[in-house]
Amino acid sequence: MTAPTRWLTSEQLGPHFDDGGEIALVEVLEQYRRRPVHRQKAHLHLSALRHRAAELGDRARVITGPTHREALEGAGLTGDRLETVGAISWGMRKLVEELGGTMLEPRGFVTERAVFDDWAAGKKPSQLVMDRFYREVRERTGLLMEGGQPVGGQFSFDAANRERPPKGAVSLGLPDPWRPTEDDIDRAVREDLDRLAADGAPFIGVDAPRRFAATREEALAALDDFVETRLNDFGPYEDAMLRGDAIMAHTRLSVPINLGLLRPLEVVERVVAEYEAGRAPLNSVEGLVRQLIGWRDWVWHLYWHLGPDYTTSNNFLDARTPVPENWWGPDPSTVAAACLSDALEQIAQTGWTHHILRLMVLGNHALQRGYDPAELTAWFRDAFVDGTAWVMPANVVGMSQFADGGVVATKPYASGGAYIQKMSDYCGSCRFDPKKRLGDDACPFTAGYWAFLDRVEPRIRGNHRMAQPLAGLRRLADREQVVAQERARDAY
Ligand code: SF4
Repeated sequence: MTAPTRWLTSEQLGPHFDDGGEIALVEVLEQYRRRPVHRQKAHLHLSALRHRAAELGDRARVITGPTHREALEGAGLTGDRLETVGAISWGMRKLVEELGGTMLEPRGFVTERAVFDDWAAGKKPSQLVMDRFYREVRERTGLLMEGGQPVGGQFSFDAANRERPPKGAVSLGLPDPWRPTEDDIDRAVREDLDRLAADGAPFIGVDAPRRFAATREEALAALDDFVETRLNDFGPYEDAMLRGDAIMAHTRLSVPINLGLLRPLEVVERVVAEYEAGRAPLNSVEGLVRQLIGWRDWVWHLYWHLGPDYTTSNNFLDARTPVPENWWGPDPSTVAAACLSDALEQIAQTGWTHHILRLMVLGNHALQRGYDPAELTAWFRDAFVDGTAWVMPANVVGMSQFADGGVVATKPYASGGAYIQKMSDYCGSCRFDPKKRLGDDACPFTAGYWAFLDRVEPRIRGNHRMAQPLAGLRRLADREQVVAQERARDAY
């Protein structure tokens, strides 16, 4: 019997997905005509795929087609001939099942599915709390544990991850992060994408030299660079924003990790070793450990646990506004709000923003304005270089938009301009005033916050964590004017 060929996707490119047989890598350029994807994301994925094919040499079988199904069927990879390492989306799982292929256990995560299923058994969706999952993973793996107790006396140092940016600073003053040097593979990918763009493919954002690792070697260089230049500042400034510093002390390692080029556990072990050697502070190290063995694995398992319809069947706050046209195109520059404009500009230019811009600016704005959660999830998945089918549903539908009514988050993450003013330097250069909720210069986040509460009040009345904000809404003397103003506002 012929050994099966293993199909690996552009999210499974590290050596830990490969056990030595023939590897199929599938290129579907046509997908970029079918839906908007960031131009630099398309480039990164194709570049990473082709670099892996070059590394594998004769063992790689690059196949192409108008769809993944047609490519695999055309190459005869069905039934016993096809093997995959888990599936990375419900769509892929269905395809492999229909083709009769074999799915091995997924790789690239810390907690195995059976272990998560045991943990989740008998719990209601609202009891699948990330903090409890994270605690269980720490205890099980022994990471940052000492004598059965968490190092430093507590599992989470989240409260030490919220420092404001240094007063008067325009940046954290850290060295420029590692960047790759493009090669002939990158240039060939660019030519293919140029042809697609000239032919009308609807790319999001602009083209630019590649910024992120596309090979294992590059990913390890990016990890080294982060540990040497940013790890120490990562913890304290995790939630801070500066207009002149798009990257701050963030890792950006979600990009190579989500391409499968780094194992999350090797990143965790590396930073824990830095802590143990006395070279990195606990709030930085624990913050990153929490992101990787806690949050990342948790949203991966929730993706499967909550089922294929989670994104499309949840709209608890009845949010129906389409994601604005200019979020999907290459030029978002019509936005006046300094914080939102900068976040959209960063996406257009690089396909990446750090997490607090995602949550408290982009997500917060979308929540307030009632953007359709399924459409917004698709935007986050396709406009961000690290967006995947599995990572965005719990993050966007659940955490950011509260569209599942309280499975992932316990309350809507809405906040006014005061939070952005406190944690950033955006407001000083903005035409709006974060303290104002009425008038031409009313901050769209501050006024938007109250208009949001007014709109969703009937749905969130029973949520005890919203009792105080709703009491504030009821005391608002100018509630009606603020709501009318925000309903009429069509530019920010
Ligand atoms: Fe953003 Fe409002 Fe501050 Fe302007 S004033 S930067 S819109 S929070």
